[in-house]
Amino acid sequence: MRALKATFNTKAFIGNFNRVRSIAPNSKIMAVLKANAYGHGLIEAARALSSADGFAVLSVSEAIELREYGFDQYLLLLEGFFSAYEVKVCSQMNISAVIHNTQQIDFINQVKPKNPINIHLKINTGMNRLGFPPSKVKSLIQSLETSPYIGNIILMTHFANADEAIGVRDQLALFNKVVDDSFDRSVANSAAIIRYPETHMEWVRPGIMLYGASPFEDQSSKDIGLQPVMSLHSNIIAVQNLDKGQSVGYGSTFVATNKTRVGIVACGYADGYPRHAPSGTPIMVAGKISRTLGRVSMDMLYVDLTDIPSADIHSEVELWGENISVDEVAKEAKTVGYELLCAISSSIRVPMEYA
Ligand SMILES: *Cc1c(COP(=O)(O)O)cnc(C)c1O
Repeated sequence: MRALKATFNTKAFIGNFNRVRSIAPNSKIMAVLKANAYGHGLIEAARALSSADGFAVLSVSEAIELREYGFDQYLLLLEGFFSAYEVKVCSQMNISAVIHNTQQIDFINQVKPKNPINIHLKINTGMNRLGFPPSKVKSLIQSLETSPYIGNIILMTHFANADEAIGVRDQLALFNKVVDDSFDRSVANSAAIIRYPETHMEWVRPGIMLYGASPFEDQSSKDIGLQPVMSLHSNIIAVQNLDKGQSVGYGSTFVATNKTRVGIVACGYADGYPRHAPSGTPIMVAGKISRTLGRVSMDMLYVDLTDIPSADIHSEVELWGENISVDEVAKEAKTVGYELLCAISSSIRVPMEYA
């Protein structure tokens, strides 16, 4: 069996959750567990965060799974209902939903649930993805408040630029203009939690920071006080010695300018390592920082062993984790840590070990 595996560091995960608590001590925490907890495993992640006030997921099936495992936290469907049937199930299992269009309200009115549905009413303040226009919010709230089928209402919005220089000011101002403080509010993702305390309000919705990656391009996770949660490890399965002028891998994109010792690593893009990571992407071999060489293959990639004479077949490789941050690899591949983590959903190819 290949040595490739991902490890989930429960202590680090809980540490990051506590970091959220210390940054936003007066807010309830809705831990975002969508995309199989950003690739880390839904149930294991939820279990580690038993002191979270709520969990946010995408689909009814994920929420049902959490309820069936006995989690009694507030559960939120981030895209809300896709059918009347889903309303029925959610009413029975006390699952809450984002309401972002009128069709979803129609579903609720069709079902007439006995247990009123708790909702997050989503207001579009400028991201232009999901949500009602601010001008509609007052009248909407009035009609929802009088509906016997709707329980508690939380007002929410989502920022387009909390991680960018432009920030949250305009969206936040628009949100504050249309909401009044008789409702609980939920607006902050990780970036807003870290940079904009005025967004904390009654609920915060951290995702990426729980997993120990940074939402920012210009600030590392370490600087934010976060610890890496997922480590991706494999080993060297072959060694090649290149003479000057020889190349390695598809397209021969790396050509040796000197004698070069190359390690072949059992991990490729089919395992979730980014194909666009170029030669020079940091990687650790036998405890030493090195660099990748050439193009990432489906099942393998190449690493420079020239200055690591102790490294050989079976030497351990860290693709990312404690020493190589997933953000560094993502940056080289011109993407974000989010994408790399989500790509490692526990599978036969990449078993996840919980430590
Ligand atoms: C994914 C998501 C979050 C979490 O965002 P991070 O940047 O990972 O913290 C929060 N709110 C909503 C609506 C989301 O879809």
